[in-house]
Amino acid sequence: MNDIGYGLFLKRERLISDLTFKRLCGKKLFPITVEDYEQAAKSLLKALFIREKYSKLAYHRFPRTTAQFLRSAENAKYLNSVLLFLINFVPSNHCADICPCPHKGEDPYSMNDIPENLDFELKMRDGIIYVYDNAEALSKNRPRCLPYPDLETFAMDLSHVLAMIADGPTKTYCHRRLNFLGSKFYLHEMLNEMAELKELKGVPHRDFYNVRKVDTHIHAAACMNQKHLLTFIQSTYKTDAERVVLDKAGQRLTLKQVFNNLNMDPYDLTVDSLDVHAGRQTFHRFDKFNSKYNPVGASELREIYLKTDNHIKGEYFARLIKEVAHDLEESKYQHAEPRLSIYGRSPEEWESLSHWFIQQKVHSPNMRWIIQVPRIYDIFKSRKLIANFAKMLENIFLPLFEATVNPQKHKELHVFLKYVTGFDSVDDESKHSDHMFSYKSPKPEQWTTDDNPPYSYYLFHMYANIMVLNNLRKERGLSTFQFRPHCGEAGSITHLVSAFLTADNISHGLNLKKSPVLQYLYYLAQVPIAMSPLSNNSLFLEYSKNPLREFLHKGLCVSLSTDDPMQFHYTKVSTNNIREALMEEYAIAAQLWKLSTCDLCEIARNSVLQSGLSHQEKKHFLGADYLKDGPEGNDIRRTNVAQIRMAYRHETLCNELSFLVDAVKSEVLGSQPE
Ligand SMILES: [Zn+2]
Repeated sequence: MNDIGYGLFLKRERLISDLTFKRLCGKKLFPITVEDYEQAAKSLLKALFIREKYSKLAYHRFPRTTAQFLRSAENAKYLNSVLLFLINFVPSNHCADICPCPHKGEDPYSMNDIPENLDFELKMRDGIIYVYDNAEALSKNRPRCLPYPDLETFAMDLSHVLAMIADGPTKTYCHRRLNFLGSKFYLHEMLNEMAELKELKGVPHRDFYNVRKVDTHIHAAACMNQKHLLTFIQSTYKTDAERVVLDKAGQRLTLKQVFNNLNMDPYDLTVDSLDVHAGRQTFHRFDKFNSKYNPVGASELREIYLKTDNHIKGEYFARLIKEVAHDLEESKYQHAEPRLSIYGRSPEEWESLSHWFIQQKVHSPNMRWIIQVPRIYDIFKSRKLIANFAKMLENIFLPLFEATVNPQKHKELHVFLKYVTGFDSVDDESKHSDHMFSYKSPKPEQWTTDDNPPYSYYLFHMYANIMVLNNLRKERGLSTFQFRPHCGEAGSITHLVSAFLTADNISHGLNLKKSPVLQYLYYLAQVPIAMSPLSNNSLFLEYSKNPLREFLHKGLCVSLSTDDPMQFHYTKVSTNNIREALMEEYAIAAQLWKLSTCDLCEIARNSVLQSGLSHQEKKHFLGADYLKDGPEGNDIRRTNVAQIRMAYRHETLCNELSFLVDAVKSEVLGSQPE
């Protein structure tokens, strides 16, 4: 805090927020009774304790400020029962470990220094992988001391949050607090906009263009835009027309034959005939959207250009991704976290994906990888590819446990996992499931019907395995993974409850709009949300109705992401041949919502915080103290976010949390005999 103006600001701001608060919430005008307020505060704190518990267990992040207030609430001897959870195990250092990017000149695919094999035994039970020291321990069913989740406790925790989102007084309380946060920001903007701008003008060398931005949600198979894909297809045809590129039911076809069969000449292709862009026809039609992944509607072209395990060993797909990566490296300040798919159809998928990654040399310093798991058990089951849901989970997770326990036996997967930072769960959320997830639900081994399990069932089992895996990897000094599901894009708001417990951060979060309690909880716990308003505009929500601006202003931790540049973005090339879908996303948001530079840089800062970039990179991009909350943690010379803004955010969050803790404390004091 080197600026005198900032001190003045703080005093003025505090005065205004105090006055406003008294006017809005002063005793006489307090909209709900004191008992209701205390009850709401208690429920909200309990929900935060629950999230903190699951975050710690999986090495997910939880904001320090909120944690400090929870400790203070604990001191009020409150809610001790909540802390008796699962197994008595709380990791002491609960921060995700992410491998630093290899230095220039280092071989990112090096197979040296791979840890020794441990030869532990692994066995799936109730859909969760258990680790045993040896065969004897396995036969006696004595698993290694790692935290294993307990479905019954989880179901209880889930039902607590589910009950509170429907509780009248809690809804009223959260609704009012959110309105207050919106109005308070409006006031902040009116008073401090010019002061923020003045601060930014004083920062040498840094502006919106050269602050670091991460595209926090993007699918690898759609990471290139339509024009890029079109030019790529045409260029391969020029050089590779006679190359055998497809094996169709035993029949080998050259690129020329493929296009002949489709009755087209690649030279005549346009983005219109390529037809991969979403638009009016895809609104509320996820099925139509999915078919947009097929260029000119032909699944053969998807197979040739957008798959990793095809006849040409995924070469074209790798080249496309590397061209996108090259653009990012050239632009220097942009990073992306593309999703690659693991389906759970067979246990060989991991070997094949890591082999592709290493053979095709796909690593880029500007990319970190996320594994997306589509929720399509029902499809595999109906095709008789798997016997039950547990088999799908086993195909997804067992290879990861094996590579962690015996990395010497799975060298390629071990190396690939260094660059994988998380897992995503994807599919159409608006698909309804008749099953209500509870502890009485059939275990994954018994889930043998053709029906797809509900969203929360998927989330719990993915979280549970990631949690055990992270603890095992932490023990070995290996990197850990974040769970970052698509959530709240459509469908039931209960999805957001499951993710509140299980996810490090989420993509979309649109439905938070519909639940004041969840929206307020996501604010208090600063759960990062990667939002993609352009994607929503073609699928589920018109741009003008998108809540991003509102969420940002209230102080939710939102970032901007592209989702699928192939389907949604236009920007083609700039002077140095760079395609900039992410900039298109920022530019449109800025224009439509009149976002200030400080707003944009705050979103960019959030995107780096939220991302799976390593601690070292975050220090470099945001400042050495980025882990500290408030202005202390902000290096304006790197982030271009005004200290006034940082102070405002920090003070506002502290205020909200202190109301909750005060309510609980006053209850404890009130209940003590005089
Ligand atoms: Zn997506």
